[in-house]
Amino acid sequence: MQQLSLFPSTEEPRDSAAIAYLSSDALLQDGSAVSLEKQKRSDPLLLSIWLRLARTWFPARDDLANYELQWSPRRQKRTLASVSLERNRVFVARELNYPKHHHWLDPLLFHEMCHAYLRSEYHDRRFFEYERRHPGIKPFDIWIDEGGWLSAIRSDRAKRWHTEKARANSA
Ligand SMILES: [Zn+2]
Repeated sequence: MQQLSLFPSTEEPRDSAAIAYLSSDALLQDGSAVSLEKQKRSDPLLLSIWLRLARTWFPARDDLANYELQWSPRRQKRTLASVSLERNRVFVARELNYPKHHHWLDPLLFHEMCHAYLRSEYHDRRFFEYERRHPGIKPFDIWIDEGGWLSAIRSDRAKRWHTEKARANSA
């Protein structure tokens, strides 16, 4: 059976990362279980990327598995993503929820994961030392600098506007 993959950067099928994490890696070194209630409320795509990143880059930090990953409910202008260290929650701008942008989720979520790992919201030297280990960060920063994010916002607005219009016309 041939599978159509929209996300070449995500090598595993959507849910396998989450399942693997739940079944084998959810125990801490000392045997205590990690609460995974946050996962249940998460978007499956965002969660699977998040868990793969956690396993790859911070395998000793099982607590990173207990995060809620969501698309932002509102439109964004400046914020591509944000993390709440109190609520264990990450929001990603819904403007990036198009297949052509999905390969940026890897470096973007890695950025937020560095905040979660360090338990710090600051962009200090220590933060950048961790962040720059991911090979996708530099191309992602260039994409933003060169206006990629702005054009993502514009094309999302246009798309939503056309959808609204089509709905109005068919009503
Ligand atoms: Zn940040």
